[in-house]
Amino acid sequence: MSDETDKIEKTDAQWREQLTPESYQVTRLAGTERAFTGQYHNFKGIGDYHCICCGAPLFVSDNKFDSGCGWPSFYQPAADAPIDEHVDRGHGMIRTEVRCARCDAHLGHVFPDGPQPTGLRYCINSVALDFKPHE
Ligand SMILES: [Zn+2]
Repeated sequence: MSDETDKIEKTDAQWREQLTPESYQVTRLAGTERAFTGQYHNFKGIGDYHCICCGAPLFVSDNKFDSGCGWPSFYQPAADAPIDEHVDRGHGMIRTEVRCARCDAHLGHVFPDGPQPTGLRYCINSVALDFKPHE
């Protein structure tokens, strides 16, 4: 986990200025992009996925799998990724919300129906991620 001193805090207006409307809606207002519309759900590039808000490395392509759910899915976060998990009781369901611990961006949810070795499916919005290919 990241230590609290590198926590990034910005005002709502600053986030709004930095992010596209779609990224702002998802990461700062806990929205969800429509399934199969994101740029990474069917994407197979080799590299790292960073937080769109603060640039923290969150996921790696090695851990991405084709879940067919319409959002990029990973069976685990990157080593040392600043990931925070919170119980989300919205929409009449109990789910586990996944956030960037560094800047509090909403990323998506984690479900217990993923492949081995973890059995987890981190279902993440494309617009919350910034992909950087390996050289
Ligand atoms: Zn972040």
